Amino acid sequence: MGLSDIIARIDAATARAGRAPGSVALVAVSKVQPPERVEAVLAAGHRLFGENRVQEAAGRWPPFQARFDGIGLHLIGPLQTNKARQAVEMFDVIETLDRPKLATTLARLADERGTSPEVFIQVNTGAEPQKAGILPDDTDAFVAEVRKLGLPLVGLMCIPPVDEDPATHFAMLADMAARNGVSGLSMGMSSDFEIAIAHGATHVRVGSALFGDRAYELV
Ligand SMILES: *Cc1c(COP(=O)(O)O)cnc(C)c1O
Repeated sequence: MGLSDIIARIDAATARAGRAPGSVALVAVSKVQPPERVEAVLAAGHRLFGENRVQEAAGRWPPFQARFDGIGLHLIGPLQTNKARQAVEMFDVIETLDRPKLATTLARLADERGTSPEVFIQVNTGAEPQKAGILPDDTDAFVAEVRKLGLPLVGLMCIPPVDEDPATHFAMLADMAARNGVSGLSMGMSSDFEIAIAHGATHVRVGSALFGDRAYELV
């Protein structure tokens, strides 16, 4: 599916939900995709992208940034503390703040650099043992902690369990955001972004529906 098809689907879902036109941003998830597919989406005018890995993003994006103005990059994969410095230098938004130690590291880097990427807190809405994210019960306290550290918290993010109805998880995340006064909601991927928009997503992360299947899956 091309960029214009995805944007048309986002716009239609936004309208169906009675939400303002343009209130949902498309984060085009370019991880693992061949450069020519990414370049085609850039050439079509899109500028907001998501990557899972700091290393992969560091190899891919500098040459594109030299040729295309206004590229925004979101980190949507787990961030190891020892890659935090490289991540804050490269990404405009870190969507995967998922633990206190990473929050203190990001706050220290922000003090040092005088600037910080915006952050989303990743919530493990399904409380899955293998999945990153703050547990639902710990989220309110973590939001307070992140704010106290002075980090620019703009949203919550989740990846629902594969075998469950995503709507339940999107609704849970929207509730948590509302009660904490957080405005951003990064939720919804290729298979469920329209459902996420119905539940208030402000950012949808779409990879394979836009670029085609990935040659291999990141684990
Ligand atoms: C890969 C990935 C996506 C995109 O997944 P698709 O199903 O290809 O749209 C979105 N969010 C995260 C966190 C991902 O890792």
